[in-house]
Amino acid sequence: MNELAREVAADDGRGTTATGPSVVPPPATSLAPARIKPRGFRRLLNSFLNSWNGLKGAWREEAAFRQECAGALVVIPAGLWFGETGVERALLIAPMLLILVVELLNSAVEAAIDRIGPERHPLSGLSKDLGSAAVFVSFGLLGATWLLVLTD
Ligand SMILES: [Zn+2]
Repeated sequence: MNELAREVAADDGRGTTATGPSVVPPPATSLAPARIKPRGFRRLLNSFLNSWNGLKGAWREEAAFRQECAGALVVIPAGLWFGETGVERALLIAPMLLILVVELLNSAVEAAIDRIGPERHPLSGLSKDLGSAAVFVSFGLLGATWLLVLTD
């Protein structure tokens, strides 16, 4: 048994081993190199911290995210007020949450593109336009559900 296999075998499932964080080997077919990845409670804690940092980053860097959060503060209470059943209330608020989700992913694409470099490239432009279109379509969903639920 090599060192890596011994570490994996010694893993108690709580994210630590006698030799430190476990090294999870990728499947033989994976293109990813072996990376040190925490597991168990540590992984959960890290992922909460990463998510919190992501929310703070989107708030700091993206005016659109701030505006959509402001919109959510109006749309979600209004949806809870206008919806007459649980299903209606869910339909009125869910697309607003989806807009925030799509905006976060769109911002992730933008950040990755900007990380590649500031120069203009048709594929960079296409990437950002596709992300923008995804946000646009999710607004369409919000409009459609409000129209359909309130005219029912
Ligand atoms: Zn943006």
